[in-house]
Amino acid sequence: MTIAFISDLHLSAARPSSISLFCDFMEDSATQLSELYILGDLFDYWIGDDGTKALGFSRVEQSLKQTSDSGTNIFFIAGNRDFLIGKAFSERTGVEILQDKTVLELYGQRVMIAHGDQFCIDDIAYMKARAHFLNPQWQQSVLKTPIEDRIKEAMKLRSESEQIKTGQSEEIMDVNQQEIVRVFKEYDLDLMIHGHTHRPYVHQLEVDGKLCRRYVLGEWKQEHSVIYANQGKYYLKK
Ligand code: MN
Repeated sequence: MTIAFISDLHLSAARPSSISLFCDFMEDSATQLSELYILGDLFDYWIGDDGTKALGFSRVEQSLKQTSDSGTNIFFIAGNRDFLIGKAFSERTGVEILQDKTVLELYGQRVMIAHGDQFCIDDIAYMKARAHFLNPQWQQSVLKTPIEDRIKEAMKLRSESEQIKTGQSEEIMDVNQQEIVRVFKEYDLDLMIHGHTHRPYVHQLEVDGKLCRRYVLGEWKQEHSVIYANQGKYYLKK
C-alpha cells in the first residue's frame, strides 16, 4: 500500500495544462494509493467554497471526488494560496481537511506534514501578512463579499506577492534552520514533509543525536513532484 504526498500545484484555469496534469495524475496514479496527502497550494488561489465554478475548478473537484470514491483517502492541508478552503469543499470532494503541522504515525515514526510557510520566519513581512490571512474574523468578513470582488482582491494580492518575491533574497524566503530544529524537538519528530519553498530536496539533520530527515516537495510545472512512501521507505520524485 503506497502513500503519496504532493503540494504546490498552483492549479489555475489560466493554465489549463496544470489542471489536466493534476486530473491525469488523479485518475492514473492516485486511485492506486491508499492515502494521498495534499500539502497546500493545490490552487493558485481559492476565494471560498462558493467560488469553484467562477474559478473553473469543477473538473478538479470531480477528479478528487472520483478518486476518493475509488477508495483512496485524501487529506488536505491549506497553503498560503488556498487558506479559504472549507467544509463545503470537503463535503463535495470527500477530501478530509487537516490542521497544518499534523503529526502522523507512519511505519513506527513520527512524521510531521505541513505546508511549510510557517518555518520561513526570517521573512518578517510575510509572517505578518500570514497572521492577517489566517485570522478567522478577517476570513469570515471576506467570505461575505461578492465573488467578483474576491477574485479582484486575490489577483491583487498575488501580483503584490510576486513583486515582493523578486526583490527578496533566496535565504530570507527559505525555512529558518533553527526553527526547523526547534519544531523537530518540540514534536519529537523523525521526519518532516513540506512544500511551499519549491526547493525539492531530502535534507538530513541531527537533532539531539538522532538522525532525522526533512523532505521538501517541488512545485508542479510540466511534471509531477511527488513523495511516495511504502513500507517505511520514502522516495522523492522531483
Ligand atoms: Mn505556499
